[in-house]
Amino acid sequence: MRLKTKLSIGIGFLFIAILVSGILGILSIRVMKHDARMILEDNYETLVYSNNMLQLLDMFMEDSTSVPLFEKNLKQQEANITEPGEAAATEAVRTLFEQLKRVPGNDSLLSLIRQKIYIINTANQQAILKKNHIAEMNAKNFSNWLMIIFGMLTLIAFTLAVNFPGIISEPVKALSDGIKAIVNKDYSKRIRLSQKDEFGDLAQAFNSMAEKLDEYEHSNLAKIKFEKSRIDTIINQMNDGIIGLDENRRLLFLNKVAEKLLGLKETEIMGQYAPDVALHNDLMRNLLQTEGKEKELKIYADQKESYFHLDIFNVNNNEKVIGQVIVLRNITPFHELNEAKTNFIATISHELKTPIASIKMSAQLLSDTRVGGVNKEQEELVKSINEDANRLLNITSELLNMSQVETGHIQLKIQPVLPSIIINNATNTVSTTAQQKNISLRVINNSYNEKILTDPEKTAWVLTNFLTNAIKYSPEEGEIVLTTSIEGATIRFTVQDHGRGIEDKYLPRIFDRYFKVPGTTEKPGTGLGLSISREFIEAQGGQIWVESKLGEGSTFGFSLPKQ
Ligand code: ADP
Repeated sequence: MRLKTKLSIGIGFLFIAILVSGILGILSIRVMKHDARMILEDNYETLVYSNNMLQLLDMFMEDSTSVPLFEKNLKQQEANITEPGEAAATEAVRTLFEQLKRVPGNDSLLSLIRQKIYIINTANQQAILKKNHIAEMNAKNFSNWLMIIFGMLTLIAFTLAVNFPGIISEPVKALSDGIKAIVNKDYSKRIRLSQKDEFGDLAQAFNSMAEKLDEYEHSNLAKIKFEKSRIDTIINQMNDGIIGLDENRRLLFLNKVAEKLLGLKETEIMGQYAPDVALHNDLMRNLLQTEGKEKELKIYADQKESYFHLDIFNVNNNEKVIGQVIVLRNITPFHELNEAKTNFIATISHELKTPIASIKMSAQLLSDTRVGGVNKEQEELVKSINEDANRLLNITSELLNMSQVETGHIQLKIQPVLPSIIINNATNTVSTTAQQKNISLRVINNSYNEKILTDPEKTAWVLTNFLTNAIKYSPEEGEIVLTTSIEGATIRFTVQDHGRGIEDKYLPRIFDRYFKVPGTTEKPGTGLGLSISREFIEAQGGQIWVESKLGEGSTFGFSLPKQ
């Protein structure tokens, strides 16, 4: 039965019970009132009339007013005949009263009248007793019925009062237990309610919801397991070492390559605090010290030397870091290729140097008039051969320097040198080129007689490179200023030009290998000069920098320690 119907029946029953009790109460009061009125009207009044008539009979002879009074009472009695035999007695009183009026003082008539009045009196008294008895019986009956009905109603109300809260509270409790279980992710929870009301429907809906959640949870779990095993397989197949840490830096996983590199087994260190593992593992220590920076590592593992590029990524979830992934990318093949390339460049540059030098010498001999005369066109050709040979020599020297830098074999011959020597060396080298473009080269030497500790050849090479670039990117008839100054324990060299300048966004890459500012690619050059310059200066403990504004010119500078 529906809860709504149950509630309607309960409330309806109470309503009917109240109605029935009320009607019965009103009915019983009415019946009793009617009984009382009957006794009063029918019999009590007759007793009053008959008593009045008896008293008036006694005064009949002495008081003349008693006759009409008797007449009046008799008339009233005649109008109130209710009991059996009362009519005959009243009629006899009337006949005898009429005779007495004709012969007043007749004692036998008086006594006969009295007898008849007594009959009326007795009949009414008996009727009062009988009606009173009936009224009592009626009252008793009503009281019994009322008691029975009240008893029944109390019993039913008590049963309802005991059972009704349970009808509502039990399913509500079962439902609230079920919801709590779902909140705690216990999707196996079901509610068993046998009733077929709204609560039964609610329980059924709850069970379907829990079933769906259970299915979803299981299918998700299976999916997650499947995805995990797929990712595990991919990670283990990779040629790179991968290490996973949680947000508390505990080890979550290592792939096979990482196991080999660290010399540790995943099962042995899983869940351990990484800095604890680092205490007895050099590589792990090295990895943890890197802290987000990129780095190249040479690792000896599996009986061979390999190169790895280290990357550390933060794993984020809703902008919160929930772990880290350390990736050791195996770059050994690139290293090997690079090494082969460097060796190849070094060999070729070295091999080219001798024939180029001999071409240059032959060209110089040709232009020497002592060897023989040449005509004007031949002289131009020889000049061009000379310039090209110089350019080729510069390129081969750059490439040789580069291979030295790449193999980490920069050989420095450090000695105390006057800055003027380096300045002269560099300015002499570039003077012809500067003259060709009518560029004036101003030197402001503020280093006085202080010496720097440097490899003069390499530093002159750097300064020459700065000046060559300044000339290359300056307009015709421009000015280049070379300045030296003492800055604390160092001497600074700067080369300022008023050429095209460099866009801000390219400045951080200007010292990178092979980098040329887009738009300058038409100018001759390998893009190696500045990167070699940086290596040379930094290898001597110095610093190198650039300041530039597009359209206004650039200032390249370096500083080296004083003697
Ligand atoms: P390159 O041999 O090409 O000159 P560098 O390493 O010396 O190689 O220079 C790298 C790049 O920097 C150049 O290609 C050029 O784009 C830019 N550059 C160097 N010096 C200057 C300068 N003084 N003014 C403008 N751009 C410059």
